[in-house]
Amino acid sequence: MKNIGFIGLGIMGKPMACNLIKAGYSLKVFDLVTSAVESVSALGATACSSIREVTEGSGIIITMLPNSPHVKSVVLGKDGVAEHAAKGTLLIDMSSIAPGASQEIQAVLKPKGIRMIDAPVSGGEPKAVDGTLAIMVGGEQDDFDEAMPIFKVLGSSAVLVGPIGSGNTCKLTNQIIVALNITALSEGLMLAERAGTDPEKVFEAIKNGLAGSTVMNAKAPMILDGNFKPGFKIDLHIKDLANALETGYANGSPLPLTAEVMQMLQTLHSDGEGQSDHSAIMKYYEKVAGIKVRRH
Ligand code: NAD
Repeated sequence: MKNIGFIGLGIMGKPMACNLIKAGYSLKVFDLVTSAVESVSALGATACSSIREVTEGSGIIITMLPNSPHVKSVVLGKDGVAEHAAKGTLLIDMSSIAPGASQEIQAVLKPKGIRMIDAPVSGGEPKAVDGTLAIMVGGEQDDFDEAMPIFKVLGSSAVLVGPIGSGNTCKLTNQIIVALNITALSEGLMLAERAGTDPEKVFEAIKNGLAGSTVMNAKAPMILDGNFKPGFKIDLHIKDLANALETGYANGSPLPLTAEVMQMLQTLHSDGEGQSDHSAIMKYYEKVAGIKVRRH
């Protein structure tokens, strides 16, 4: 078993690192937030105070950072992973970033003999804690195979989608579908409420039909309860849709609905809802319509 260097111990990274420790892996951990490093090292990981320290002696590096600039800085920046990783090291970037950024980073690492796969996840904090994340991977088959025992600890599924960047393309597809689903759900339930129909009854009546979905089952009860505690934050979804729009612009994909929902999310951010769950898209409709959609 190779030693793992784990960088980024936030909402997702911390439980993922803990699951690897519980599975018997030897971990060195680093985050800018010292308290996060301390809480994971209390479970048996080696606390590091620099990227150099976490990288040296680690045959596998896992990063779980917010966005493309953070991963670029940690991997390619001064005193970063690329400067200190030994030839043959495998970098598994599990952050959700722009596919083009994954490709740029891999292009710099390849001549140094450092391998990389992009492996973003879906499922949020509860599935990170349970070790049941859905993992979407881009890279070479051999590297995917080498990472598989780690993916088995962290997730319930891991699919090699294609070459480097494909994991993040898959994640952006996922994020477009989720955002548009929540928006459709909000728009539909608002119509029902405006018509004087009980939105809870509407949800009960349609959830097993063609409109039913995992998103509807998860988000309709939150909306009806007025419970917008995250879950997945509006600000993170803005980040993902920005990456989707940038990617669509680069490859000529039409994304009219994504652009529209992005405007709604930006409005919600300006209204102070950036840290709310993305089910707060309903609040956009409630502001425009001047009524709330709740259980009657
Ligand atoms: P987070 O903000 O909670 O954690 C990110 C961590 O990275 C923080 O602890 C931060 O201190 C650390 N960090 C930032 N820059 C650093 C640097 N230069 N060096 C070391 N550490 C640094 O974010 P999160 O919710 O854990 O999300 C991580 C990634 O996973 C994001 O790309 C997100 O989109 C994705 N994701 C999140 C969820 C979710 O529900 N939260 C679900 C699926 C995917």
